[in-house]
Formats: sequence, structure tokens, C-alpha cells
Amino acid sequence: MIVILKENTSAQAMEQVVGNFKSFGFDVHISHGSTHTILGLIGDTGKLDIDQIKMFECVDDVKRIQEPFKNANRKFHPLDTVVKVKDAVIGGGGMTVIAGPCSVESEEQIITVARSVKASGAKLLRGGAFKPRTSPYAFQGLREEGIRLLLEAKKDTGLPIVTEIMDLSQLDLFTDVDVIQVGARNMQNFELLKQLGHTDKPILLKRGLANTYQELLMSAEYIMAFGNENVILCERGIRTFENYTRNTLDISAVPVLKKLSHLPVIVDPSHAVGFAEFVMPLSLAAIAAGADGLIIEVHNNPSCARCDGMQSLTPEAFDKTVKKLNRLKAALTED
Ligand code: PEP
Ligand code: MN
Repeated sequence: MIVILKENTSAQAMEQVVGNFKSFGFDVHISHGSTHTILGLIGDTGKLDIDQIKMFECVDDVKRIQEPFKNANRKFHPLDTVVKVKDAVIGGGGMTVIAGPCSVESEEQIITVARSVKASGAKLLRGGAFKPRTSPYAFQGLREEGIRLLLEAKKDTGLPIVTEIMDLSQLDLFTDVDVIQVGARNMQNFELLKQLGHTDKPILLKRGLANTYQELLMSAEYIMAFGNENVILCERGIRTFENYTRNTLDISAVPVLKKLSHLPVIVDPSHAVGFAEFVMPLSLAAIAAGADGLIIEVHNNPSCARCDGMQSLTPEAFDKTVKKLNRLKAALTED
């Protein structure tokens, strides 16, 4: 349920209404918009009488929210959430590019890629240390050593780092990681999501291979319900009957998620399509559809990559892609 307060409601009047709801056991989420303040009530609001709430002098309107996601709902928080990571911002209509290799392979590799993607305009560095691989015989990532190398690359370039957590037992290793990625395969690992809700780290939450928008938003809700509101949603392609591409990029996810939620929405064209040659057109499509950014795989030597070389851009191809994206973004923001 949301309670919309009248313009110019005093802090004292607001506290009185909020206190009233809290005394009935509700959690109250307060969102200050440009004109109105909205109170989002979390709890069993079925028993509340709308007419009685309207009797408070400062209450303008009361509406029931049908969707099961509350904290993530745009009705609770009409303005875009902007997630700040050091000097980078994600959300609010900008275009933030995250880039780097699928997995960290060596100090030389991660530092070379970090320097080149930074020079091309990436604002964050990605790199997998713990890798969720379909085969147990495939390269599983450098694990702790991978995180250490990412931190070296962060020190060298100043780029904040994004890397995937696969299990709660790894959380202590993520103290200096700037953004924790929850991969597609873990989107519904609810215990992991709950614990990440107790941290103050931005979480990049990828859509599961066969999950709906509502399921993705409910996973974001798990993180937010425990206090962490810094969630970035990521569309990374879903399973369909098409098997030419690795997955199918669901472009509709971008405008729909942005309508339903105030959280930033980014797109991963690399895992969506699986081939480097299609990464640029899908990146352009994502930005044209309103995405707040992209996460793109880049490798200094894709043919020798230990993971996902086929979909990895060379630093040169990445540079061209960012230049084209900048031109598109400029055209889209023209009056
Ligand atoms: C990745 O980003 O390296 C990754 C494994 O992505 P996803 O979880 O989307 O497959
Ligand atoms: Mn990958």
C-alpha cells in the first residue's frame, strides 16, 4: 500500500502518520519525490481501512499495490534510483559501461585489459574470479587469487571492480570488491540474496536463464527487504527455442523493468548472444531501449581466453563500440 502525502506536509505531521503505521507493526519506506512524499507500507495491509487513513489531514491519497514486490516497485519510489560506485553512477538516464574479461587469468591479462577498457571509457572493470561453469572439468576461475589480481588492477587503474559471488562462504573475500555480481544461475539463491541484503555493497543481479520479470524483481526484493537498496538489474539473455545464438536478448525487459521498478537496468549483450560480432548491434539496441548501461566482455587475446573467448571483444572492437554508443547516446539525449 502507498500513502501519498499532500504537498508541503510538515515533518511533524509526517512523523505522526509514520508512527501510527509503525505502531501497527508495518515497515514504512519513505520516498521524497519532487513534489510529494510517498510512504510505502510493508506488511499485511489487507486489514487496513483506506478511508480511515485518509482521515489524516496530511494524506492526499492511498492506493493498494497489487504487485508482490514493494521496495523494488516504482510506485513506492517514483524517481530513478542511482547507484553510486566510487566516481561511477549507474541509473538515472546515464550510460555506464562495465567491461573486462569473462575470467581473470593472470596479472598481466587483467591489468592490460583494465587499462585498455578504461582508456576507451569503461567506468568499472569486470572479471570473474569464481566461475559458474556448466562442466566441472572446465576452468573454475582463479578464486581468491583472482580477487587479489582484480584488486591489483583496481589499484593500477582506479577502476572500481565487479565480480561474481557463487556462495555465501566466499563473502569475506569480497570486502574490497566494489560491486558484487549475482549470476544468472544464482538469481534465486534466496539465502545468498538475504545475506547480501545485510551488506552495503551494490549488487548486480542478473536475470536467471528462464525467469520472468516478476521473479527477477522478487529476487531484488529479497536483497532490499534486508536493508540493501543498491541493486542493479541486468538482462543477460534468456533461454528460448532459438539455438543459433547462446541465449535470446530480451530487449522488452529494459522498458518493462524500468516501468515496474526504479532500479537501474543494464544489459549484458555478451552472454545474451555469445558471438563477438553481434555485441555492438545488441549494445546499441539496449541503449536505444533505455538501458542505464552495459556489461561487456573484453579480452586482450580472445582466441586464447580460458572462458567465453567467442563472445569477447578485442580492446580495439570495444573501443569502436564505445565510440558508436557515445554517438547514439548523444543523439538520444538531443532535445
Ligand atoms: C558472467 O558474467 O561471467 C556470467 C557467468 O554471467 P551469467 O551469470 O549471466 O551467465
Ligand atoms: Mn562469461
